[in-house]
Amino acid sequence: MEPSKRHPRWAEVAPEQWNDWRWQVSHSLKNADDLADFMQCSEGQREEVRRLSRNFRFALTPYYASLIDLNDPDDPVGLQAFPQSMELVSAPEEEQDHIGEEHYSPVKRIVHRYPDRVLFILTEQCSFYCRFCTRRRIVGGGMHGEYLDEIQEAITYIAETPQIRDVLISGGDPFVYADEKLEGVLAKLRAIEHVEIIRFGTRVPVVIPMRITSELCSMLRKYHPIYVNTHFNHPREITPESAAACARLADAGMPLGNQTVLMRGVNDCPVVMKKLVHELLKIRVRPYYLYQADLAPGTKHFRAPISKGIEIIESLRGHTTGFAVPNFVVDMVGGGGKVPIAPNYVVSQAPGKWVLRNFEGFMSTYTEPDDYEDRCPEKCGASHATPSTNGKVQSVASLLRSRAPAMKAKGRQQTAAAARVRAVRQGT
Ligand SMILES: *Cc1c(COP(=O)(O)O)cnc(C)c1O
Ligand code: SF4
Repeated sequence: MEPSKRHPRWAEVAPEQWNDWRWQVSHSLKNADDLADFMQCSEGQREEVRRLSRNFRFALTPYYASLIDLNDPDDPVGLQAFPQSMELVSAPEEEQDHIGEEHYSPVKRIVHRYPDRVLFILTEQCSFYCRFCTRRRIVGGGMHGEYLDEIQEAITYIAETPQIRDVLISGGDPFVYADEKLEGVLAKLRAIEHVEIIRFGTRVPVVIPMRITSELCSMLRKYHPIYVNTHFNHPREITPESAAACARLADAGMPLGNQTVLMRGVNDCPVVMKKLVHELLKIRVRPYYLYQADLAPGTKHFRAPISKGIEIIESLRGHTTGFAVPNFVVDMVGGGGKVPIAPNYVVSQAPGKWVLRNFEGFMSTYTEPDDYEDRCPEKCGASHATPSTNGKVQSVASLLRSRAPAMKAKGRQQTAAAARVRAVRQGT
């Protein structure tokens, strides 16, 4: 396939340089004036960009910059890349730690929100800073620190916590890390017996696909099972280069998923989203999550209503391949974690009988067996409750299985992780 068009500014760059991620990183637009030149700003706008640069980091790779249509002020790729004055305005509902991650951080770089898996924030650096980033409070900070002690402390926490069977390495962007350093971390994680799977969350295949080298892939495949989740938001981000990067990862045996953030003016449209999920399947990437935009400070101009997400799922489910349909999730304010939201397909219910509707609006009934006995194939019976550390009702799933008629009324139940956070804070 023909390579993607380059912006005239880089038309003369030799292909060996253009296709070298190091060249892309060292030629990224990082300061306000470079960016303002590229955006063809007026003097007033240039002042604005300078003002914004004091608050937020920029980095725009020549590759990703070339995907922007500079003649279109509403270009969906440009909107993700160019700073806007609205970023300096925080809406009242926006808070710095809006998803409550700090409450669940037992040690630096680890967020242990769910019982059996952790988020491992390997680095604050990204090769491109998305204007809507939910982790704006941390990314781009810390500059070029190495944080080897913190990384070791995070690995030690994982090693000492046997419930953790799944480690999600994210950031920032973990693939900005050099291969050898990444391998050091992977080797240590793989040496931990209870770590079953390792996954990466990365935007590298979208913004600097040349970083997915065959060397990186051969290194990663030594540590299987590894899953990679990438982050395409618009069909225009799928190019011969990003497709090739995904092919290299998939050929090295990594199942690929994608998360998309629902964004006003970028992809808040069933037609755009259907095109995106179809294009993703063509490059062997399976849509995983569609995120309702978080309440990150200065991002209100990107947010669409939750109802738009439901409308999009309604337009996909049944209308296209089942596994092209992502789960639409909202990350709850207050540290509640991700909650899936879907259109209602259950129209009504009576004992033994359900009325369901399909994507076309057709309705029919499902009759449940009248002789069903709740017996577990493992013969563990009703005691087969969702694991709870202290025998108390700790989730809706365990409520269904226990004799207790209600959860404790006072506050949310504490997870083991939250208890551990408190212990760490109190220095016990
Ligand atoms: C999203 C997330 C995970 C992973 O969640 P899955 O639903 O398993 O993909 C883990 N930890 C944190 C803190 C997260 O935000
Ligand atoms: S790549 Fe991810 S962490 Fe980095 S700026 Fe974009 S959304 Fe934020």
